[in-house]
Amino acid sequence: MKSRAAEDIIRIENLTFSYPAPEEGTESQTAVDDISLYIEEGSFVAVLGQNGSGKSTLIKTINALLSPSRGDVFVCGMNTKDEELVWEIRRSAGMVFQNPDNQLVSAIVEDDVAFGPENLGIPAPEIRERIDDAMKRTGIFGLRKKSPHMLSGGQKQRVAIAGVIAMRPKCILFDEATAMLDPRGRCEVMQIIRSLKKEGITVLLITHFMEEAAEADRIIVMEKGKIALSGTPEEIFGDPDSVKRLGLKLPPAVEMRELLRARGIDIPDSVLNMDGLARYLCGRAEPERDSSGV
Ligand code: ADP
Ligand code: MG
Repeated sequence: MKSRAAEDIIRIENLTFSYPAPEEGTESQTAVDDISLYIEEGSFVAVLGQNGSGKSTLIKTINALLSPSRGDVFVCGMNTKDEELVWEIRRSAGMVFQNPDNQLVSAIVEDDVAFGPENLGIPAPEIRERIDDAMKRTGIFGLRKKSPHMLSGGQKQRVAIAGVIAMRPKCILFDEATAMLDPRGRCEVMQIIRSLKKEGITVLLITHFMEEAAEADRIIVMEKGKIALSGTPEEIFGDPDSVKRLGLKLPPAVEMRELLRARGIDIPDSVLNMDGLARYLCGRAEPERDSSGV
């Protein structure tokens, strides 16, 4: 991974983070171990890895929730160690957590979405415009007068995302934000992620769902605090043995692709989702029919 300072919205240089020893005589826990990582502005990066591999710790250093034990993290050129820049860094790189209940603070949806911009000291008319825009983009405008506690998990998560969008961040960090949602809620959150990407917002997504990772521009797989693999979804899932060795599953469509390959059907690595698989198999069948004159 090369450094291209100008285009890289996030620069992580030789980052090590150790949690302090829980008590005297015990050892400190190194959760992130000498990682360097450069994330290009506007890209969608999925972070995978088994539980305890250091994903959340890594992402928290980007949001300045944790300060490096060694090395540096830069967000839009700002060093997260600079305490004066902490709020500007959090505004630039917003974070969405697994459990939306921990992120919702107000009794009314629209107040919740307004919470962040209000804390930035933004004038009231602009706050109105920002929160309406954020609620429309996340499909919760119709729920704006409701209490967040009356909403489904997926709706709550969209309120939390709207609150982050209303801050107008350049980058949004999702830490297993779909893990507690039902399939429909997950789908809605993924749709928002796709639209953020289209608008040029950088997305970092920690996930256990391989089909979500398959949509990213780039995948990083962590193991024991280090980056074990990094590449495009095509590259990463083109090597199923390495993925499995790191304790991960394959996306369902790649699983099916591998089963078909084992039965002699040649399917390229670029096929990563069900739609692509169906299209490839149909496209593959049609020319044969044509050539046989049927
Ligand atoms: P992941 O998000 O991939 O599951 P984490 O970043 O949460 O991994 O954790 C990485 C390692 O750091 C794990 O071994 C975990 O036990 C340890 N760890 C995480 N949070 C703390 C904490 N607050 N105090 C001590 N150790 C922690
Ligand atoms: Mg985690």
